[in-house]
Amino acid sequence: MHFSPSLRFLHGHPSRRLGARAGLGLLLAALALLAGCAFGPVIDTRYSAQGQDSRVLFLILHYTDENLEDSIRILTRQQVSSHYLLSDETPPRIYRLVDESRRAWHAGDSFWKGHANLNASSIGIEIVNAGGKRQPDGGIAFAPYPPAQIDELVKLVKDIVARHQIQPSRILGHSDIAPQRKIDPGALFPWKRLADEGLIPWPDAAQVAKARAGFEGRVPPVAWFQKALAQHGFRVPTDGVLDEPTRRVIAAFQMKYRPARYDGQPDAETAALLEVLNAPARP
Ligand SMILES: [Zn+2]
Repeated sequence: MHFSPSLRFLHGHPSRRLGARAGLGLLLAALALLAGCAFGPVIDTRYSAQGQDSRVLFLILHYTDENLEDSIRILTRQQVSSHYLLSDETPPRIYRLVDESRRAWHAGDSFWKGHANLNASSIGIEIVNAGGKRQPDGGIAFAPYPPAQIDELVKLVKDIVARHQIQPSRILGHSDIAPQRKIDPGALFPWKRLADEGLIPWPDAAQVAKARAGFEGRVPPVAWFQKALAQHGFRVPTDGVLDEPTRRVIAAFQMKYRPARYDGQPDAETAALLEVLNAPARP
């Protein structure tokens, strides 16, 4: 599609001005360049294989923890980067900083369901948001996401998911894939909204209530939680001990599916959420 205007230009104007020979030479050189064969091999693209898919398997959501100006500076001038930056302007603006065909450096040491180092297999979206501020009582005060910003995010996520056929269970937060280091996009990120848009799996409330009743007063041992969290996708210790790394993973799970309390403490509701989410899909 880009060929015809340039060719028409070369064919029409320069050949008359430079003479037929010079014009022909210029035309051939331009054709060779346009065909990409000036210095490389000739590629015949008439056949296309059925067996292929996108290299992009995951979509990872982050908050920047910085204002827009600083986010742009950091994401364009430092080592860290992301494919997209979603601003908090009115209306929100989507900046593309890295082409989707290339790797951005947003995930770091990361893992989900057998896949590690997810930079190579993911698209990263950084959302401008002030992040979480540690409070004197030990809690974290998160900054809310304006609805208009989430509306724009939903549009972007739907577009990316459609083009790369990303599975719903692979739309994740940084805290899912790196729970020992990261808590973004935080407890105020509206995961439920993404579920309501059909983008991510969400446990059925009635099933959770039923399962919770069964766990009430009979909270499973830590090893059960570790196994269930690993089955869900997390990299988690398997030692049966409620140590700090295990609590961080439980907190990351709670932050997403039960943001009212993410203390990392195993409880009946957390067990119920895990059990329902891990249950095989019904036909
Ligand atoms: Zn992040």
